[in-house]
Amino acid sequence: MSQIAARNPRTGRIDWRGPAADPVEVASLAARLHAAQPAWEARGGAARLDILRAFGQALARHAGPIGEALEVDTGRRRIARLEIDSVIGSIEGWARVITADVVPQWVQGRGLPTVRHTAAWKAYPLVGVISPWNFPLLLGMIDAVPALLAGCAVMVKPSEVTPRFIAPVMAALAEVPDLAAVFAVVAGDGATGAAVVDVADCVCFTGSVATGRKVAVQAAGRLIPAYLELGGKDPLIVLDGADLERATDAALRGSVLSTGQACQSIERIYVQRSIHDAFLGRLVEKAEAARLNWPDITNGQVGPIIFDRQADILAAQIADARSHGARVLTGGEIETHGGGLWLRPTVIAGVTHAMSVMRDETFGPILPVMAFDTADEAVTLANDGEYGLSAAVFAGTLEAAEAIGRRIEAGAVSLNDAALTSIFYEAAKQGFKASGLGPSRMGEDGYRRFLRRQALIANTAAPLPLAAFSEEGST
Ligand code: NAD
Repeated sequence: MSQIAARNPRTGRIDWRGPAADPVEVASLAARLHAAQPAWEARGGAARLDILRAFGQALARHAGPIGEALEVDTGRRRIARLEIDSVIGSIEGWARVITADVVPQWVQGRGLPTVRHTAAWKAYPLVGVISPWNFPLLLGMIDAVPALLAGCAVMVKPSEVTPRFIAPVMAALAEVPDLAAVFAVVAGDGATGAAVVDVADCVCFTGSVATGRKVAVQAAGRLIPAYLELGGKDPLIVLDGADLERATDAALRGSVLSTGQACQSIERIYVQRSIHDAFLGRLVEKAEAARLNWPDITNGQVGPIIFDRQADILAAQIADARSHGARVLTGGEIETHGGGLWLRPTVIAGVTHAMSVMRDETFGPILPVMAFDTADEAVTLANDGEYGLSAAVFAGTLEAAEAIGRRIEAGAVSLNDAALTSIFYEAAKQGFKASGLGPSRMGEDGYRRFLRRQALIANTAAPLPLAAFSEEGST
């Protein structure tokens, strides 16, 4: 049996080991979930919602151990608790989105008046959810909750980097046997993830573009849908007339929250030349005021780098920017404290699109700032890149921000704020370009995507005989 090992990001020590589910275990779990799913679907939406609510209560009862596990794996406390609250709150959020089971009417045919039709929605029997390490609980449950409400069985495979929360979540799940029959969380690495894709009827993947491509290819081979939520390189445009206090506050929070380890982090900042120096000066002051949450986890705003290999990517991007002539104004060095790795907010000026820090996903608290002259130039720069997850625009008025925002090739654009998708979940959106594939995971589509539409077509007259289509007499 293969093993996975987890590193504590505050100490650097590998202090957790556990088994990884192998393909045989994944297949046998899938068989159990598949067997239970028809009864789950037959219960109806209202009963499923009640059971999910009971699970929310169980999660609340187990919030202590779940929070502690998340805290050890991610090195942060408040965000760990927010993850749990957010998952519990999402159940009521979905309750508002999903209207009561609507019984579709029969519709009389127009082309064939004796034929009428109605619709039914059938859940994908088993949804496989594969999630990353940056929000270990939230990013699995974000797809699992609507899929379960839709009537699917669900198997979640979280990242092997942050697996500690699985045991306390399974303990909460055991208190809701009706749900435990159709829902499971399995530990494992990429091989376990691939095994999940092999048994699922629909797959939701959140992670990197490179792995997303592999999942998409494997899913295509099985002709199952793959809904992909991938990386980003989100731009922030700050136009002349913007409130610099607000814009710098939003830029810092959008880049540094969760130590930049969020898909929708601001990773490129474009500022109109007339306000560039003033913006940069204020941003540097605010960046320098941010503190590490070390040695006290209840202090500061910047947590450790969760995945140690990410520190190498951050260091390489900073070195590449320096070697191309950029100026690192704050932070800029990976720091080791107590065995963990930290990076202070790193503001970099004088960057260009020749530098990797402006092209490749960073996933860390780096804020590269570049000047532009015209709004057209800003739009061209924002759209120059492989990703299209989200973006942000600051301007003197919301209307001016909106006019630019509509021209950006990204699935969500925050206006006069940044990274609003990290705190506001109601707006439907898709990942553009390499940032994703499939319907929105938010809003009604986020639920509908787990249902297949079936047509029931009835003929009240005698069926047409073959002779009605005879070639005889055709001209
Ligand atoms: P990753 O792609 O390395 O891993 C994600 C998951 O895929 C893990 O559970 C991993 O075990 C699994 N996996 C690896 N190989 C697999 C395979 N061949 N088949 C199936 N599963 C496999 O990503 P990561 O490093 O954990 O997460 C960081 C990435 O996630 C960043 O690129 C970030 O932008 C992205 N992300 C996107 C969103 C979004 O909503 N768009 C949200 C958070 C993170």
